[in-house]
Amino acid sequence: MAGSILSVRALNAHYGRAHILHDVEIDLDEGEVVALLGRNGAGKSTLMKSVMGLLARRQGFVGFCGRDLGSLRPYEISRLGLAYVPEDRRIFSGLTVMENLEVGRRVAKSTANPWTLKRLFALFPNLDERRHVDGGRLSGGEQQMLTVARALMGNPRAILLDEPSEGLAPIIVEQMAHAVKALKAEGLAVLLSEQNLYFAHEVGDRAYVVDRGRIRYEGRLDAIMANEDIRRAHLAV
Ligand code: ATP
Ligand code: MG
Repeated sequence: MAGSILSVRALNAHYGRAHILHDVEIDLDEGEVVALLGRNGAGKSTLMKSVMGLLARRQGFVGFCGRDLGSLRPYEISRLGLAYVPEDRRIFSGLTVMENLEVGRRVAKSTANPWTLKRLFALFPNLDERRHVDGGRLSGGEQQMLTVARALMGNPRAILLDEPSEGLAPIIVEQMAHAVKALKAEGLAVLLSEQNLYFAHEVGDRAYVVDRGRIRYEGRLDAIMANEDIRRAHLAV
């Protein structure tokens, strides 16, 4: 099995005086899809923001590809090959789909098979049809696809997806699941946060269950699906 590409140890995070994350430990292996499961307010987004260096107050260790991210700025972390798609889709209105994608372009250093517009449009056919449309005029699902595609333009080695299926129509959720599986097939490591256990189960290998800022359980998604106690205690289903 490939080694860990992202590791988080004894991570604590605060918003002002509120202590949100408590001694969080997670690992993401190369080529693995791992889900962070948890209800509203569990701390999933805070964990991703902490990893990306977006939180003013955090303690603990975050390592990516053997580098300590502790003192790095968000843009430096993203340059190391860790992409982040936040839960609020940040599409540029006034720029077309193609122009939004160009904003994310970065020359691949280590990727054997760099992402091109052609490959991204094959991954997200809806975007292909809309390539000359203003990003601000896309549907929610198309915007979500565009934010993921734009992150891929940076040729990351791993990607953090914050609730990729949230608020999307079922058919778009299916397409997103297909895309996540394609990323895994490309060898990307994916950490995604989800409230939708079914989406996580379809795409993920493993999951961490987060509740009130702590990791409560870690295991295969099959085991979580089958464990009614965990679902009742910590998840919305
Ligand atoms: P959701 O599924 O709703 O996105 P989440 O698991 O991502 O939830 P977080 O957004 O990480 O949860 O929130 C964790 C806790 O931190 C919550 O109690 C929330 O109210 C609090 N919180 C989040 N953002 C801030 C902020 N900017 N300032 C203060 N508290 C915050
Ligand atoms: Mg969130």
